[in-house]
Amino acid sequence: MFPHQLQRLIPRKLHPILGDVYNRSRGYLHRLISRGNEVTCPCCKHRFRRFLAHGHPYPILAEMQMVGGGYRLNAECAWCGSLERERLVYLFLEQRALLHAGMKLLHIAPEKSLQKLLQQQSTDYYSADLNSPLARLTMDITKIDFPNGYFDAIICNHVLEHIPDDLQAMRELYRVLKPGGWAILQVPYSPILEQTLEDPSVTSARDRIRVFGQRDHVRIYGLDYGHRLEQAGFTLTREMPDQETISRYGLDTREPVWFVRK
Ligand SMILES: [Zn+2]
Repeated sequence: MFPHQLQRLIPRKLHPILGDVYNRSRGYLHRLISRGNEVTCPCCKHRFRRFLAHGHPYPILAEMQMVGGGYRLNAECAWCGSLERERLVYLFLEQRALLHAGMKLLHIAPEKSLQKLLQQQSTDYYSADLNSPLARLTMDITKIDFPNGYFDAIICNHVLEHIPDDLQAMRELYRVLKPGGWAILQVPYSPILEQTLEDPSVTSARDRIRVFGQRDHVRIYGLDYGHRLEQAGFTLTREMPDQETISRYGLDTREPVWFVRK
């Protein structure tokens, strides 16, 4: 997607189209500058010497050694804009053959790079968000307007860190999932923080950037994130890619797929 400064000046409905134009121009340029075969984007199949740098340079993110957050090199595909977590989830879905025609699949805060794959393979695809132009449904995930056990699968990445009552959101995700269904619930987290850091008295954008590393984050998850998922009822497995996959596709060596089942 194109820079935030430009996003504010342009009507939201035009973002996906202009984002494509921006990425395409940047992609051509980066293919010239960073010509090579060292890394491959599984989402768009383009190859480069390396991916682009990405992320906020805020001190708290470096201090917390964030996985999936903070400024890092070799992170963003110049062609389609995919980040490490999107490539990780894409590969996981493909390699495990988790998608089936006709399955009811809920994609919250849809990433464009994943959306294409999910739409191709799932005939019953629901995208939802509070305000993303890529989503068809407007949804507050602490109050999901679907019956119990409606979905076969849910993908919800980098959403829970924005939600004050994240446990309620996790319980809702659990409720609308079929027994035996699965979900992928990626979040940015700190591997050096035993307990999740949150403080409801931190409310201004400036203070949230200082304390949580992003203007609209309400916490930094720690190593207890998995325990929270289990508290909501899920059975959790943390799935790590192998070293070759990490190098080939420019993934974060520390980032697992947070894979849960009901
Ligand atoms: Zn790509």
